[in-house]
Amino acid sequence: MDRIFLPPDVIAEGTATVKGSVRRHITDSLRLRAGERFLATDGLGVEYLLQVEAVDRTELVAKVIETRERKPGPGCALTLAISPPRGGRMEIAVEKAVECGVGRIVPLTTSRSVLKDRRDSSRPERWRRIARSATAQSGRVHLPEITETLTFDEALDRASEGKCLLAHPGLQAYSIPAALSGTRIGDPVTLFVGPEGGFTDDEVDAARRIGALEVSLGPTRLRSETAAIAAVTLVVASLSTELSREAG
Ligand code: SAH
Repeated sequence: MDRIFLPPDVIAEGTATVKGSVRRHITDSLRLRAGERFLATDGLGVEYLLQVEAVDRTELVAKVIETRERKPGPGCALTLAISPPRGGRMEIAVEKAVECGVGRIVPLTTSRSVLKDRRDSSRPERWRRIARSATAQSGRVHLPEITETLTFDEALDRASEGKCLLAHPGLQAYSIPAALSGTRIGDPVTLFVGPEGGFTDDEVDAARRIGALEVSLGPTRLRSETAAIAAVTLVVASLSTELSREAG
């Protein structure tokens, strides 16, 4: 069952009061009526089972039947720092990276980033909307943060305390599982994905100076959004495997 994303202030004292587009989604798209139940999340790790009590044209009231706190998944401490590709392709990257379990997304400007879209301030809001709906759709209960746009140097600076991976194929590149050897779930990992033109030599050098490892995603040249989806999946899967090995 899809979870519905309810901002934390919607639920108080065991009752959710839902208005606007979320109410319309529940009553018009899902066609839920009084007495029916649905799952919701606040995006902060809590999952709710709710029962519709009353619906009118402006609001829907639902009673909380059950509240469950869920642990963050294996990608919770993974940050994807990506130079947004053009047009709708960043939207694909955001939706899929969230589905695959990313913990945070940092839009990046790099030397070869596309300048035009950088100035469009409506884009981060659109990406956040997509992240909310992908969180609910994929059954996640932790909403990934989408930060303001950072420069490559700012993002490197923030990444320097954890493990830092630079998607950049070449002779020095590791596979993602090899680069993550010894990393546990919850350890901060930042994964950098470059623009269409790739990272410059100066950027690769700067990343190496903070101890970043270059990682390869195979012999073909992927578009940025494809690289992001593939790399997030590999990080999350590698960390999950590490967990099951420990458990076994
Ligand atoms: N024009 C560049 C390719 C850029 S592809 C070149 O010829 O080198 C856009 C971004 O996707 C890259 O900066 C890198 O971060 C990532 N990427 C694409 N294919 C990749 C691969 N096979 N391995 C690792 N990263 C890759």
